[in-house]
Amino acid sequence: MDVRSQISMVFHLDKCIGCHTCSIACKNIWTDRKGAEYMWWNNVETKPGTGFPTKWEDQRIYQGGWEKDGDGIALRGAGKRKGLSNIFYNPHLPVIDDYYEPFTYKYLDLIEARAGNDQPTARPISMITGKPMDIKMGPNWDDDLGGSPDYARNDPNLEALTPAERDAMFELERIAFFYLPRICNHCLNPGCVAACPSGAIYKRGEDGIVLIDQLVCRGWRMCVTACPYKKTFYNWSTGKSEKCILCYPRIEAGYAPACMHSCVGRIRYLGVMLYDADRIHAVASANEQDLVQAQLDMILDPFDPKVIAAAKANGIADSTLDAAQYSPTYKYVKKWGMALPLHPEFRTLPMLFYVPPLLPVMASVKTVDHTEQSEKMHDIAKHWPDNWVYDTSTTELFGTIADARLPLKYLASLFSAGDTEAVKVRLLKLMAVRIHRRRVTVGDISDQRADQALKEAGLTAAEAEDIYYLSALAKFNDRFVIPAAHREQAIEMMEFTGDVKGNIGFGFKADTAERGL
Ligand code: SF4
Ligand code: SF4
Repeated sequence: MDVRSQISMVFHLDKCIGCHTCSIACKNIWTDRKGAEYMWWNNVETKPGTGFPTKWEDQRIYQGGWEKDGDGIALRGAGKRKGLSNIFYNPHLPVIDDYYEPFTYKYLDLIEARAGNDQPTARPISMITGKPMDIKMGPNWDDDLGGSPDYARNDPNLEALTPAERDAMFELERIAFFYLPRICNHCLNPGCVAACPSGAIYKRGEDGIVLIDQLVCRGWRMCVTACPYKKTFYNWSTGKSEKCILCYPRIEAGYAPACMHSCVGRIRYLGVMLYDADRIHAVASANEQDLVQAQLDMILDPFDPKVIAAAKANGIADSTLDAAQYSPTYKYVKKWGMALPLHPEFRTLPMLFYVPPLLPVMASVKTVDHTEQSEKMHDIAKHWPDNWVYDTSTTELFGTIADARLPLKYLASLFSAGDTEAVKVRLLKLMAVRIHRRRVTVGDISDQRADQALKEAGLTAAEAEDIYYLSALAKFNDRFVIPAAHREQAIEMMEFTGDVKGNIGFGFKADTAERGL
């Protein structure tokens, strides 16, 4: 057992309100530079939709990630042989139109406009050519299903659905969507690292954050091809590739990454998980239907004395072990089994997990009689005599999972390599917690009914309370459990003891770096 620690993330999709605050926080800190205009290290997609860059999930186009090769795996569109033959021409890259042509506005047209009768306008200009342009695309252009026929209907995940299921999904009164915020997954088996011919990309030993050394990168862009999530980007100005760094300078100082800190919906959780690195190859090469379970099995119990002993033998600090025991991500992913990785079939073993969305659970859309309700309203109260909108008067407050407005097959295509049962189990747990809390707070659900829901989901009432706390009430320190970085050890490792020879004894440093420096 080769125990390592990994900073991991959970995004609770039921809570994302699609406000894009996370994207803007990241954009203002990291990608607000020349050459990085089109990059969104954090972006929020509307699902169903084609995403950013367009159709990034369709590896027939982009050739990203790993594929099974006998008993092992091989990079689909990069790697030693394929990379060498394409090194001066990489054919599997998204082009700028797949992202979007970055633009700004001629603000001086507003500021310097002469006083007149007409409203001045600021024309959009391309940030590449500097010339006026017509905007045809942007990050999350299909926000909130804007332009659904062109975007939502071209979502690669719809391939899992029959034509009839697809049509039913897009009937106007049934249409449903949710938000999918994405950052680099800081994978355990990262395609980007494996594909880099320069050896510029590395996974940090102490916390698993994947970084690109800007001095070593030679701009071959094999990482852009190999990352199936398209989370490495090429900076045309510096000639180097760049990617999400999980705000490591903030993490080292004990702060949450900017996207997570600013998240309005508080959907984001960050914590340490321990895993067995000996199993990476076997897990990444597992059969598709076993991938999710194999990845979850690789995550170790931080309370197990054997795991603790092996972790200590590997040099994992006590503070990291404490953080692993209190980790919100461990609870969601392993203890409660409520979160799944995005597209496990890409075999990079992503360490960002998603709690799938339950979507509107109570309302159905049908003709109902609101007359009685309308008569109670005051004369000056504004109300509409609509008798067709949401009906919340059903005796069955919570619909069944099978009738969920977003088909299970669609969620399974995103989060479990097509295994609908894996998604169903998670949705049942989400539903059971809601039913349990409805019993506690409103009291119109019988104990028998609520207990039955908990039993079906495999939860106890105490666990449901814990899930409720972490989902709805958790404070900042519950959501982000960041261990001390121990950079002093990493920095000391890079020091040459000869440099300090003679200070106070051989190799004894006068100043030891501290956390946060
Ligand atoms: S998501 Fe992509 S860029 Fe991030 S570690 Fe995984 S393969 Fe690399
Ligand atoms: S800030 Fe949070 S709630 Fe808003 S879009 Fe981003 S992830 Fe969703």
